[in-house]
Amino acid sequence: MEIQVKPLAADPALAAEDAAVLAPKLDATLDPANWDAFAALAHRAVDDMVAFLAGGRGRSAWRPLPSDVRDAFHETLPMGGTSPELVYADFARLILPYTLGNTHPRFWGWVTGSGAPMGVLADMLAAAMNINAAGWDQAAVSVEEQVLQWWVELLGLPPEAGGVLVSSGSQASLVALAVARTDRAGYDIRAAGVRGARLKFYCSTETHSSIQKAVEVLGHGSDSVCFVPVDREFRIDIRSLTQMVLADRARGYMPICVIANAGTVNTGAIDDLAGIADICRREEMWMHVDGAIGAAVAFSSRLRPLLAGIERADSVTCDMHKWLYLPYDVACTLVRDPSKHRAAFSILPSYLAPTGRGTAPTPLKFAQLGIDLSRSFRALKVWMAMKTYGVEGYSRMIEQNVDQAAYLQARIRHEPLLELLAATPLNVVCFRYRQPSLDEKSLDDLNQEILTRMQEQGIAVPSATRVRGRFAIRVAIVNHRSRGEDFDQFLEAVIRLGAQICQENRAE
Ligand SMILES: *Cc1c(COP(=O)(O)O)cnc(C)c1O
Repeated sequence: MEIQVKPLAADPALAAEDAAVLAPKLDATLDPANWDAFAALAHRAVDDMVAFLAGGRGRSAWRPLPSDVRDAFHETLPMGGTSPELVYADFARLILPYTLGNTHPRFWGWVTGSGAPMGVLADMLAAAMNINAAGWDQAAVSVEEQVLQWWVELLGLPPEAGGVLVSSGSQASLVALAVARTDRAGYDIRAAGVRGARLKFYCSTETHSSIQKAVEVLGHGSDSVCFVPVDREFRIDIRSLTQMVLADRARGYMPICVIANAGTVNTGAIDDLAGIADICRREEMWMHVDGAIGAAVAFSSRLRPLLAGIERADSVTCDMHKWLYLPYDVACTLVRDPSKHRAAFSILPSYLAPTGRGTAPTPLKFAQLGIDLSRSFRALKVWMAMKTYGVEGYSRMIEQNVDQAAYLQARIRHEPLLELLAATPLNVVCFRYRQPSLDEKSLDDLNQEILTRMQEQGIAVPSATRVRGRFAIRVAIVNHRSRGEDFDQFLEAVIRLGAQICQENRAE
């Protein structure tokens, strides 16, 4: 576009003429010409989402994405634009019916949260305000500080502890391990880099893959992660841990960090956190707790003792999109010593320098505590949900999920056609269908087929893992919509499908 620049005329009539020349060409916007029409569409979207959340029980737990729907996402670049109503119609037709199903009462796959309604509302509000929660003088920063302070209190960390909300458990541990290695490397690793550092990180063989990923991203290589054997309950073997640390030290390595599990992904096992805290103190190592799943049981006074020792950790992570049932994505990293946290990430270029007053009086608080500079206002959904449901509401839900897992385990123990493969103290149940005439390989295949048909028929969505080499159907309950009857229905379907597949195999 050609811009005509005229000097601003002193004469009011000429000035008006200038404005008339320039203004009409420069006032394009993405806002709707008719806000009422936008409001009507927005109200319809809200009604549809409420119906979606309220009506889950009537739908299949999952259905596969049809090929014509998959193909619909191979359009060429949308050059001309389309009306919002038509775009919304595409959403309703092509996207909404084909989710993973994790808002359904019988979705227990991986560790996938169910999405509490207040969180949905909060995300809409946060998007409309378009908050960039890096820092600055705005209420969003206080909200995040408040939420983190609640978590510090919940976990029994010292009041000066703090942290940051991040997008996932994986990123939460990456942030925590970056703090750990910066603090314990023994030299300025931010300036000098990893070089030949012979640092070692320790965790059990049951530890989530995100820990190894974090260590690799930090540049230490997967060889610097030492996997410690577990006991019969899948908890880290403390004696082996001690021996490995001492042996590595004798060989000239620097053991700097133990990653303890508060709820493993396979079986929900909780390591001996107090025992690990003792070793870390003795060996001057950083204690990180991966509480992606299990830190949430701090809400329950009944279950809280399972986490004894977590209050001694140097850092703790928790996934709030798992057992706080919040919409994706939100997790947190808590660090005992906030100055160590800042020391790992703070950086102050001139364009971010604080000005003492105005919008940017202080350094950008949360940009100094993690990887992201620009960041979403995910604190709002945590704040709104924690205020709405309260510690009591969360405690009741989390205890109910643990009780549902206990109920499922009790039924499996009493059912000759089923075999429990690991006992859980929390919410993750691993079992299989049993058929005495079958060898291990055939049992693996049979159970894989039961699981797949269960998903394909939309009855329920558990996932799979291997427990001591055996294929397990795995139920991880982080669902506020599941009822007792859902577990009965599920086990009946396992037994029905198992018998059906065995019969088909015999007929072949
Ligand atoms: C899910 C999970 C993670 C990773 O969290 P994401 O939010 O999926 O990145 C880490 N550790 C454990 C124990 C988990 O269950």
